[in-house]
Amino acid sequence: MSHECTEPHDRRLVVLTGGPGAGKTALLELVRQSFCAHVRVLPEAAGIVFGGGFPRSPVEGVARAGQRAIFHIQRELEAAAAADDVAIVLCDRGTVDGSAYWPGAGDLWAAVGTTKARELERYDAVIHLRTPTLDGGYNHDNPLRIESAVEAALIDEKIAEAWTGHPRRHFVPAERDFLAKARRALALLRDELPECCRRHVVPALDGARYLQRP
Ligand SMILES: [Zn+2]
Ligand SMILES: [Zn+2]
Repeated sequence: MSHECTEPHDRRLVVLTGGPGAGKTALLELVRQSFCAHVRVLPEAAGIVFGGGFPRSPVEGVARAGQRAIFHIQRELEAAAAADDVAIVLCDRGTVDGSAYWPGAGDLWAAVGTTKARELERYDAVIHLRTPTLDGGYNHDNPLRIESAVEAALIDEKIAEAWTGHPRRHFVPAERDFLAKARRALALLRDELPECCRRHVVPALDGARYLQRP
């Protein structure tokens, strides 16, 4: 899916977020298939940290260490992507999400020497996929997501609160038809692309073959 863009791109940092079961992973797969190579999809920092064996525990001291680790991994993933000529760095959650998971007293910002305002400022746009309600097709496929559907809805709300104050937030509501939700999110992402890359977007948005899953 490479193509020629004549000018170097102005890199934009876009966050895709949402509570457990919102369809983030499936959407990111569609993004990889639908856009040009100038859209760089980052891996999820929490997946790297916990999938890599970092201890996971409800004990506050351990949980805080995990959130600090995720914060620093996220920052460095973004730094690594900045080394290339990309139009959009699409983050599978951003640093701000971690504040929704901070347990006990204090907050993530002080713990890693930053402020919420500074972290919000680093991202050009936020696309928030809402978590389905209990009867709306909650999906338990991801083994790293151990929360129940009720907890998932609470987490989704906490994430929404965490990003409060960001000037360019887009909410994508949960829908029974996941593809309708996906198309909405892909269209938002396409709007973030520069003209040169938009011309090369694979025409998936109107229901091309790989959007039609059995
Ligand atoms: Zn491009
Ligand atoms: Zn381009």
